[in-house]
Order: sequence, then structure tokens, then C-alpha cells
Amino acid sequence: MSELAVLGGEPLINEPLVPFKRIGEAERAAVLRVLDDGELSGFIGAPGPDFNGGPEVRALEDGWCKAFGVAHSITVNSATSGLYAAVGAAGIGPGDEVIVPPYSMSATVMAPLVYGGIPVFADIEPETFGLDPAQVRRAITSKTRAIIPVNLFGHPARLHELLAIAEEYGLTMIEDNAQAPLATEYGRLAGTIGHIGVFSLNRHKHIQTGEGGVCVTNDARLAERLRLIRNHGENLVEHLAVDDLSNLVGFNYRMTELSAAVGRCQLEKAPEIVAERTAYARRLSAGVKDIPGITVPVERDQCEHVYYVWTPRFDADKVGMSRDLFAQALAAEGFPLNQGYVNPLYRLPIFQQRTAIGPHGFPFNLNDRRYDDGLCPVCEHMHEQEELGFGLCTFELSNDIVDQMIAAFRKVYDHRDELAQANSVA
Ligand SMILES: *Cc1c(COP(=O)(O)O)cnc(C)c1O
Repeated sequence: MSELAVLGGEPLINEPLVPFKRIGEAERAAVLRVLDDGELSGFIGAPGPDFNGGPEVRALEDGWCKAFGVAHSITVNSATSGLYAAVGAAGIGPGDEVIVPPYSMSATVMAPLVYGGIPVFADIEPETFGLDPAQVRRAITSKTRAIIPVNLFGHPARLHELLAIAEEYGLTMIEDNAQAPLATEYGRLAGTIGHIGVFSLNRHKHIQTGEGGVCVTNDARLAERLRLIRNHGENLVEHLAVDDLSNLVGFNYRMTELSAAVGRCQLEKAPEIVAERTAYARRLSAGVKDIPGITVPVERDQCEHVYYVWTPRFDADKVGMSRDLFAQALAAEGFPLNQGYVNPLYRLPIFQQRTAIGPHGFPFNLNDRRYDDGLCPVCEHMHEQEELGFGLCTFELSNDIVDQMIAAFRKVYDHRDELAQANSVA
């Protein structure tokens, strides 16, 4: 019988991986403190001191400002809410174009639609999966108003270069930094390089509050607009004598005191969590980088990658089997790898059918952009052929487990001929 688990052998990793747990005693004590106090939210959507939330929310925002070196941090109840608020704060309106990458979580590209803006997809770079500045330049028209780079998998996009393009054309740059807390480019923290940065605190991210997010900015006007959108801005504009009422139809994007109390503990743990994930990712890379056809994740010069996901690239011809076969065999060994992250987002029905708000195709009916296949060939290729991903914040890891993962990876590679043969017979 074969040694390969997928062909009936023993799996190399026989203990199932367990979920990554980053909630402990500190979070428990913090939540109990809030429960004992009894005020589970401090917000009121009306003028007065409670407009900006309770003590835990404010303390988390102060801590976030210090940790990330920004003037304003605005907590929200998700990064999705944060992205929607950011697009609103930037003043995007019907027919405005917003340049986005196709490789991201869907909220990145839904955000413009909420305000009637049109997402315009620009392709990504193959090495780090971030927006390609040359493609962004090509996508700019007289209607372009904003760019939303995503620091995908923990690696910063070419943020300084993209900011220079944004400033040249008078665009707002909103960083979707949900996956890259504490990543840096040229010594500056990702999320703080654009005009607004959006962080996620959802349960899958490096640090989490179950659901939650934070917007950061150094611009006082954008900060005020973010706070108004977060909390029923329409009730405040008169009191605050706000003159630009556009997009100040407010939402309830407020974070609870419970979440904020957890967030404060998590923020303190962030450097350690990030350092551990980075060390595991580098260990994985070192363990497999000599395998022909495997390209381990690039850490671009002058960048710190925080490895939300470890993303080796796969060359089927050089490895000698399909990515699918490799991933199946590896999963059978106990090392699950995702293939190709998400389908390029312009393939979602909302773009294919050009229908978002209401039944008449708004806002796509303001524009004749199409979302055909081939729009972003690098992204399509990464999705269909090359990219493999292992979420480093998904499972509890140790050097021992990582070493077993490396051994499983090598085992599947070493048995490639047998696997290819079995597959062709089957
Ligand atoms: C997780 C994620 C989001 C959404 O975050 P939520 O807090 O769940 O709303 C947005 N963008 C990216 C790139 C993400 O990974």
C-alpha cells in the first residue's frame, strides 16, 4: 500500500489542528469589569459627551492612536462598516469611480456601491497580490475619486507609490488593512499611509473582538465625518454646525463596551501574535523553498509582512502535478491549504448582472463599464493556477506542528510520480 494518506496510507499529521485561541484571562477580566459596571454601551446618537461612546471605546481608541501613531482612531462594529464609513467620509457619490483590487474580501468592493460609486478593478502584482500601481494609473478617468488598496495576506501593497498617484490626481486613498496590522512599508505602518486606514477585529484576524473594526486618519475633517457616519450623523450636523452634509446620513456602526474592553487586551497582544505568525511563516518558507515549482511568499525590500496567510505559489509543470491534486494530497496528510483565495470579485453576480441598489441597475446604469473575464489576468491566473494559502491565524501552531507541516509538504512532493500515476489510472 502507498505511504500517501490520500492513497490509503497513514497521514503525516495525525492530530487534528485546533483553532487558534487568542482570548484568555485578561479578556475575561475585562469583560467581567464591564458586566459588573452594567453599561454595555456608552453611545447616544445625539449631541453631548456620549456621542463618542463610553470609557472602554474611548480607551481603545486612545490606545490605538498610540500603537499606530495616528491622530484619530474611530472604532466601528466591523471593518465592513469601517470601509463603508470611509467611502462615505471621502464624499463618494453616484457615478464616482473608485479603483479597487479584485483579490480581496468582498466588502472592499461593495463599499463604493453603498454610496452609488462604481468599483473599477485594477489588476494586482503577482509577487505580493497588492494593487499594481501601473494598472491603477491606467484605470484613472475624469470620474475617479478614490483608490482602495488592500494589504492582502499581511503584505503591504505599494502604498507610498499608490499614495503619490492619489495625490497627483486628487484622489482619496483608503487602505483596507484588515489583514495587515503592524505591517510596514519603508518603516511606516500599513493602514496609516493612506488618508484613511481600516482595520478589522473579526474573529479570524490577528487580533479580534468577535466582530469589530477601527478606522484611522490624521485628517481632523475626515475623522469628524467618520464619527458622524458611525452614529446617526443627521442628528448632529446642526449642533456641530457642519456645512458639508453630503453622505452624513448616519448609520449605527457603534462598538459595544464589551468588545472595546476585549479589544484593549488584544491590542496589547498584537506585537506578540504578529511576531509568532511571522516566525511560523518564515519557518514554513525555509522548509519548502528548495522544492522546484514552489515559490515561497516574497517579502519585498523595505516591507514587513505580518503573514495573515502564508501564500506559496505553485507551478504545476515544474512540480509535476496539478495544484488541485497537490492540495488534496496535502489535506489528506493533515495540512489543509486553500487554493486561489477568492474568485476575482468582478465575477460576483452583482457585477455580472450590473445590479446593486434597487431593481434598475443603479449605480451601474450611470456608467458603461463591463466586468468581463480577462479584466485582471494576473488575478485570474493567481486564483486559477498559482496561489495556495494557509491562514496562520486559523490554527494553534508550534514549531513542532510547523515542522510536521513541512514534512507533509515534502512527502507529497517526494511521492509526486506515484500520485500522478494513481491519478491517471483513476
Ligand atoms: C476580514 C476582511 C474585511 C472585513 O472585515 P469585517 O470586520 O469582518 O467586516 C475586509 N477586508 C479584508 C481584506 C478582510 O480580510
